[in-house]
Amino acid sequence: MKIGCHVGMVGPEYYLGSVKEAISYGANTFMLYTGAPQNSFRTPLENLNIYEALDMMKKNNIDINNIVVHAPYLINLGNLDQEKSKNSYNMLLSEINRTLKMGCRYLVLHPGASMGYDREESLNQVAYYLNAAIEKYPGIIILIETMAGKGSELGINFNEINYIIQQIKHKECIGVCLDTCHINDAGYDLNKIDDVLNEFDNIIGLNYLYVCHINDSKNEKGAHKDRHENIGLGKIGFDNLINFIYNPRISDRIFILETPYVKENEKDKISYPPYKFEIEMILSKNNNLNLKEDIINYYKNDTH
Ligand SMILES: [Zn+2]
Repeated sequence: MKIGCHVGMVGPEYYLGSVKEAISYGANTFMLYTGAPQNSFRTPLENLNIYEALDMMKKNNIDINNIVVHAPYLINLGNLDQEKSKNSYNMLLSEINRTLKMGCRYLVLHPGASMGYDREESLNQVAYYLNAAIEKYPGIIILIETMAGKGSELGINFNEINYIIQQIKHKECIGVCLDTCHINDAGYDLNKIDDVLNEFDNIIGLNYLYVCHINDSKNEKGAHKDRHENIGLGKIGFDNLINFIYNPRISDRIFILETPYVKENEKDKISYPPYKFEIEMILSKNNNLNLKEDIINYYKNDTH
């Protein structure tokens, strides 16, 4: 199974630190942003320790082909304000370049938001810019993420995602990242995994599914909220997430946890990563009913 989580990329070790973090969780893959997800400031590539990171991956049997990069949130190719979408496009090009230079081929991208403009036109513009970007960087595989349907978000159902994919010329350069929290919040019923996968297959085709973000949700199906919860502690629940991951039609995909850090008290500043324990839960198929306590005990009095 290819299972990992979102990891940080901060100085001084940057990419090398990301690899070490993933290893500390028992992950065999991971996802990272090439800088802060909310802004466009980027550390120069030569400072990221790319060679050392790739070497560390090799020594620890982490396959570089399974590493996923996530594009920053502020890219919105669907904004019909031309100046803004042009900026987003340039940011996307820079992210694709960084992704490839880091040895990765998958870049997860939020399809954007229509910002009150016509949705169809907005989706057409997303496809237009994706085609242009792929033309420049044919080595990339852009994975459009399924969204929860907050505000005017695009890509809130399989039809909208398919609408974009249909317009992409180089189909080998486009795919989907399915987020379990987002599709739950968008209204898909994860109690009926086979129905959801059938629908995905009929509309888009499961061959386009490369990566799944595995998150529980704080909200009920159809809430259009997008608030991730730790595995087993949300409205999707442990059994549904396990049935999803182990479904033979998709069990060879890349699974990435993006669940929230855990705090001892709501007001605490310090929080702890849940991934080591959640990966254990998924690999063992055993629900950990003391998940938060175990995480806090493990990290609190120790130097992990
Ligand atoms: Zn995302």
